[in-house]
Amino acid sequence: MEKVIVVGAGLVGSLLAIFLKKRGFEVEVFERNPDIREHLQVSGRSINLTLCERGLRALDIVGAGEAVRDLSVPAYGRLVHDVAGNLTFQPYGNRNEAIYSISRSGLNAYLLDLAESGYGLEVQFNEKCVGLDLSSATIEMQNRVSGHISRHKADRIIGADGAFSAIRFHLIKTYGFNYSQQYWEQGYKELTVALGAESGWLSERNALHIWPRRQYMLIGFPNVDGSFTCSLHIPLKGDPSFQSITTEKDLTRFVQASFPDAAERFANLAEEYFTNPPNYMITIKCSPWSHGDRILLIGDAVHAIYPSYGQGANAGFEDCAVLDTLIGEYGDDWHSIFLRFEEARKANTDAIADLCVEHFIELRDDVGNPAFQLRKQIERKLSRLYPDRYKDLYSMITFTCIPYAQAIETDRTQRAIRERLLKLAQKNNGIDNPELDRAMESLMREYPGLAHAAAD
Ligand SMILES: Cc1cc2nc3c(=O)[nH]c(=O)nc-3n(C[C@H](O)[C@H](O)[C@H](O)COP(=O)(O)OP(=O)(O)OC[C@H]3O[C@@H](n4cnc5c(N)ncnc54)[C@H](O)[C@@H]3O)c2cc1C
Repeated sequence: MEKVIVVGAGLVGSLLAIFLKKRGFEVEVFERNPDIREHLQVSGRSINLTLCERGLRALDIVGAGEAVRDLSVPAYGRLVHDVAGNLTFQPYGNRNEAIYSISRSGLNAYLLDLAESGYGLEVQFNEKCVGLDLSSATIEMQNRVSGHISRHKADRIIGADGAFSAIRFHLIKTYGFNYSQQYWEQGYKELTVALGAESGWLSERNALHIWPRRQYMLIGFPNVDGSFTCSLHIPLKGDPSFQSITTEKDLTRFVQASFPDAAERFANLAEEYFTNPPNYMITIKCSPWSHGDRILLIGDAVHAIYPSYGQGANAGFEDCAVLDTLIGEYGDDWHSIFLRFEEARKANTDAIADLCVEHFIELRDDVGNPAFQLRKQIERKLSRLYPDRYKDLYSMITFTCIPYAQAIETDRTQRAIRERLLKLAQKNNGIDNPELDRAMESLMREYPGLAHAAAD
């Protein structure tokens, strides 16, 4: 039986191990950290995630989708808070579609449980990869408690060890390996909003809350227990920034002025802000994704992206499903599996990485402005009237499995239609007027439709 070692039992490593075990491989999993189930709520890193169609579809294949949906809160749109406390609801989809907000550590714990009790896998915790011999596919692990070093040889080694991957570090030193990384100028800190009151914005649990303030923003993710986990995104330098807010007085003043309706709701504002260092966001692109037919990278280890579209874990889960399909097609021809895997995924993960940069700026600067909201109304009208021919980009990325690059390409074609209609809507004060309807009909008659995007 082929032996596969998975390095990293985060979200992607845990799911990948399950897929591989299901295919009948002998699978060994090593994780640097202690078992997350014994240390749930690791401070500052327990930030929530949102899962969408791609991620959930991959989870469905191993029978995990339903349970994960049950651990999540569906969010049907974003609720935008302006400084005066006015709320505007922007639905995510046209057919009541939702994204699913879930605790990252809760999701990881569930996948580890499933790997162990559902699939008989054993995860070795506190084992950090400190070396890799590429030619013999042997890894060197150091136990973080005892310091003991052990070596493990396998037929394949898959690095699912995240954005700062130790496996990738070894590939970087090989000839022909291309690599780029880019930090975002903003960082984030997690702030908890205590169990919600039944009134006011806290009772709006089926939405992602967003306080866009151009240079910075606050995002609130609903939790199943009624509390919210917020992430405060501000620049690392300048004013305001993590560097300029250094005292409790600075913090209170900043939060009260910027997010007045949230200010009084934080459970431990000063403690959480001052205890946890800012977390950074990074885009990583590299290639090739494999070395020979023995070593492969997957998930954030090979394509870390900014979290603005909520796609990192979804893309990593989609990686697992694609790899599984290729194993099914190519059997033990690992050379072809690795090659086809990168062919199928890289252009797509590069495309979503670039889109995430654009979307971060859009979320921060544009969601609160009238032109953005009008554009969204036009898109909703187009999708409602021409459901088989027009899908907005967010829906294609979030509610379908159309490959990322194709979704973005399709959106570029649709942009011309949207912008023409936006001008008309601005001139006529809104989307409900005959001139706009006529223009919409004529533009859509000329538009080839979604046929060039892959079927959902
Ligand atoms: C603020 C923020 C919000 C996000 N929001 C979303 C969202 O809404 N939706 C979404 O889909 N994605 C989101 N993401 C992205 C998502 O968190 C990542 O894409 C996802 O966690 C990647 O999973 P992974 O398993 O590849 O990497 P990781 O989750 O980083 O897991 C890697 C694992 O490898 C282990 N490891 C590392 N080095 C070693 C080593 N040397 N030896 C052994 N083990 C090692 C680590 O301990 C870890 O357990 C967000 C990210 C951030 C930062």
